[in-house]
Amino acid sequence: MKITDVEVVYLRLPIIDASRCDGTQDTLMIRVHTDNGITGIGEIDSSPAVARAVVETQASHSIANGLKELLVGEDPFDIERLWHRMYQGTLYFGRSGPALHAMSGIDIALWDIIGKATGRTTAQMLGGTFRDKIKAYASLVMPDTIQGAAALAEKYMGLGYRAIKFGWGPLGRDDRFDVNAIKTLRSVIGNDIDLMVDIGHTWDAQQAIRMAKRFEEYGVFWIEEPLPPDDHQGYAHLADSVDVYIAAGEQEAGRNAYERLLRDARIDILQPDLGRCGGLTEGKKIAYMAYDRNKKVVPHAFKTGILVAASTHYVASMPHGFLLEYTVSESPLARHLVQNPVRFENGYVILPEGPGLGIHIDPQIEARFKA
Ligand code: MG
Repeated sequence: MKITDVEVVYLRLPIIDASRCDGTQDTLMIRVHTDNGITGIGEIDSSPAVARAVVETQASHSIANGLKELLVGEDPFDIERLWHRMYQGTLYFGRSGPALHAMSGIDIALWDIIGKATGRTTAQMLGGTFRDKIKAYASLVMPDTIQGAAALAEKYMGLGYRAIKFGWGPLGRDDRFDVNAIKTLRSVIGNDIDLMVDIGHTWDAQQAIRMAKRFEEYGVFWIEEPLPPDDHQGYAHLADSVDVYIAAGEQEAGRNAYERLLRDARIDILQPDLGRCGGLTEGKKIAYMAYDRNKKVVPHAFKTGILVAASTHYVASMPHGFLLEYTVSESPLARHLVQNPVRFENGYVILPEGPGLGIHIDPQIEARFKA
């Protein structure tokens, strides 16, 4: 089998509110076509037009290539070799950022092809299925008011969620607001539901230590990105000072960055985004790096049903997978781009049966939102 084309599809809602930290307003879908008719689907979480250029640009010299030119004519089963070829072929402008993001979507599509060609699920091809249902947490952008958040929490508890996270929006800007929000949410959801909070890297280490101790009173399961992504010293100081889990990693790409998060920042829960970190191939290496150090991995996923499906196969195929981010965004891209999204039942998602990722794209939604 040979790759014949790498197609990039930029999808975008007609109106985007760029003041919101909501990645479901646009996306970059990848289709890798092959000469035997199998097509793999992937998704990139980046700045779409920037990542598209990484795929489509023409070669400049031996270590500054476009990804499409590097892949056409290659065998999609050579997945490690192709990852290496893309990494080395973009070294001059890559090694992280948009180049790794673009590689991620292509890598997901290659794993989809391998599953489709063998009649197996992507989880099986990644090494085997440890579990076929995974607890999923409702992931929400924090609304402007605490009452608004409480109403959303009630809504999603009613839909069966057993874990919920609020992030960004007004969080991380006013200590009193944050403590009141957590206190109110805990009283609304009761003590049996996992509650997580994403601060959107607005604190310094001292503030984070102070606030983490307050949040601990309300049984917060993790605090996500309390500090700027590069403040590894601050994260290490925080890790020394509090018991609540600290989660981070959605901003990173490439396994070396995650190694630094474990070693220097002493992060408890790594959150690689499979559409950013280097795809499933790199994600698997990151998962085992964390496993060997007895650290948790919960992939970041705030895009469409493509990334949800890839993340579900990923968590199903790692020994210590236990939880999945499940965006409940009402964006039609998040809700309807995939015709047969990963099923959610009573707090858990069910691993799709495949082959590959086991998803189909809705052609009408694709046509409607094509940018
Ligand atoms: Mg986050």
